[in-house]
Amino acid sequence: MTDENIPELLLETENLLDKKTTKMIKKKEALEELKMEKLTIQDLPGVGAATAEKLESAGYRDLMSIAVATLGELAESAGVSEAVGRKMINAARESMKMGFVTGAEVLKKRALVQKISTGSENFDTLMDGGFETNAITECFGEFGSGKTQVGHILAVNTIKEDPEAYVVYLDTENTFRPERIIQLANGAGVDPDDALNRIMVARAYNSDHQMLLTEQVDGLVTEQGKKVKLVVVDSLTAHFRAEFVGRGTLADRQQKLNRHMHSLAKLTSSHNLCVYVTNQVMAKPDQFFGDPTQSIGGHIVAHASTFRIYLRKGRKGSRVAKLIDAPNLPDGEACFMVEEGGLKDFS
Ligand code: ADP
Ligand code: MG
Repeated sequence: MTDENIPELLLETENLLDKKTTKMIKKKEALEELKMEKLTIQDLPGVGAATAEKLESAGYRDLMSIAVATLGELAESAGVSEAVGRKMINAARESMKMGFVTGAEVLKKRALVQKISTGSENFDTLMDGGFETNAITECFGEFGSGKTQVGHILAVNTIKEDPEAYVVYLDTENTFRPERIIQLANGAGVDPDDALNRIMVARAYNSDHQMLLTEQVDGLVTEQGKKVKLVVVDSLTAHFRAEFVGRGTLADRQQKLNRHMHSLAKLTSSHNLCVYVTNQVMAKPDQFFGDPTQSIGGHIVAHASTFRIYLRKGRKGSRVAKLIDAPNLPDGEACFMVEEGGLKDFS
C-alpha cells in the first residue's frame, strides 16, 4: 500500500460503514412503525366489544384489514353505519401512518405539483419543466460547480413566477449574496426589492441550528400565513461533515442527517413546496472520475432526495448538470453557462 492509496481506502471504508449505518437506521424506523401498529381494532372510534367481535368473526383481525376495507363490507359484516365506517377506516389508515390513497388521488396531488424554472431551457427540459414542488432536489458537485448559483436563481424565479411566494434560504456557509439576487432579478425582469423582501435568509451556525430553523419553516406557513414555495439548504451537509469527524461518529451523524431529511421531506408534502439542497463531493475530484455519486451524506441523503443532480464544470466555463436519479424522468445531461443575469443554454 502506498501513501497515495490511503485517502481512497479511507473513503472505501467510510462508504461501507455508511451502507451499514443506513441499513441500521432503516431497520430502526421499520421497528418504530411496527410499534405504531400495535393498536387493535377496538381502539378505533365507534368500535365497542360487540362490533369488534362481529368484525373479528368476519375476518377483520387487525388495523390493516380495516384500513383496506370498503364501507359496504364493514356495513355488511358488522352492521356498521356509513359514518362510523368511514371514521374507522380513516382512523385505521392514520394510525398506521399508511395514508392509503388511490392512484387517482395521487394523480390529483401530482396535478398540484409546480415547477420552478432554472431559466435555462436545457436544464428545465432535463427536469421536465423545472425543479418540482412536493419534492427534494439535491445538487452535488465540487467547489465552484454552481450549486449556490442554482439556489440563487431558483429563489429569484420562484419570486418571478408567483407574486405571493416566499423563499426560505438556509445559508450554512455564508455564501448567500443579496447583491447576486439583485443581478439575477434584473436579468429576469423582477423588481430586485420585491425579490429581496420575499427571500428570508437565515444563517445556520451548526447542524442543530440548521435543524431548528428547518422546523421553524412550518410556522412561517401555518402561523404567519406565508406561502413558502422554495426552501434552499445550502449546504445541507457541511455542518454535519465538520461536526462529526472520525470513524466512530459516522452512525450518529447519519442518524441526525436522517432526521433532518425527514423534516425536510415533511415540509415538501405538507406545504407543496420545493426543497433544494446542496451537497459536496470530496475534495479530490480525480479520485471520483467515473463515479460522481460519492457525495457527502452518502446513502441517507441519496435515499431521501427525490431528484439527484450531479453538477460539474464543462467546456469553456460551462456547467453540466447530470440527472442521476429521478422517479419518472430519464437520466440525461444539460449544459449551461452561469451569467450575470442568470443561466443561459450552452451547446
Ligand atoms: P458551489 O456552490 O458549487 O461551490 P457556486 O455556485 O458558488 O459554486 O459557483 C461559483 C461560480 O459561479 C463562479 O466560479 C462563477 O463561475 C459563477 N458565477 C458566480 N457569480 C457570477 C456572476 N455574477 N456572473 C457570472 N458567473 C458567476
Ligand atoms: Mg456553494
